[in-house]
Amino acid sequence: MSDIPAPHPTVLAEALAVMYAHARKDYPNECCGIVFGPRDAPLADRAVACANIQNQLHAEDPAAHTRDARTAYNLAAGDIFKLQKSLRGDSPAKIVYHSHVDVGAYFSETDQAAAQMEGEPTYPVEYVVIDVRASGIGGAAQFAWDPASRRYVEIGRYPGP
Ligand SMILES: [Zn+2]
Repeated sequence: MSDIPAPHPTVLAEALAVMYAHARKDYPNECCGIVFGPRDAPLADRAVACANIQNQLHAEDPAAHTRDARTAYNLAAGDIFKLQKSLRGDSPAKIVYHSHVDVGAYFSETDQAAAQMEGEPTYPVEYVVIDVRASGIGGAAQFAWDPASRRYVEIGRYPGP
């Protein structure tokens, strides 16, 4: 299925299918969501689609939020609360995912900045970026925090459907 090296969480096929369907549905906007998994195993098996509030932020304050949802994502406060609350439970958030529209699955400088706070990971999760195009899903890539370079780096890829 994938070559994500343990102990990084591998997204299971059923969750990946949910994420791919979400990315296609929200095209040409970026979608975003969270994948939860069992605390005691390097798996992420429950994908939950979140709303991308970037268009709302852009409409309210285009100077502060220059990008709209075609090229950016933002989780709503309620979804961030769910993510943080899950970290104390049996099914913690393992992955935050979003799609890239027509540009491929890479971790942009905007993505690096959003995933860090004062040079540390904002959340103890990894990130999956989905490559979505008008023709369909081109696959996805997973990114993990690298303490040496103090950046998120690609650790593996998932094939398209
Ligand atoms: Zn991105």
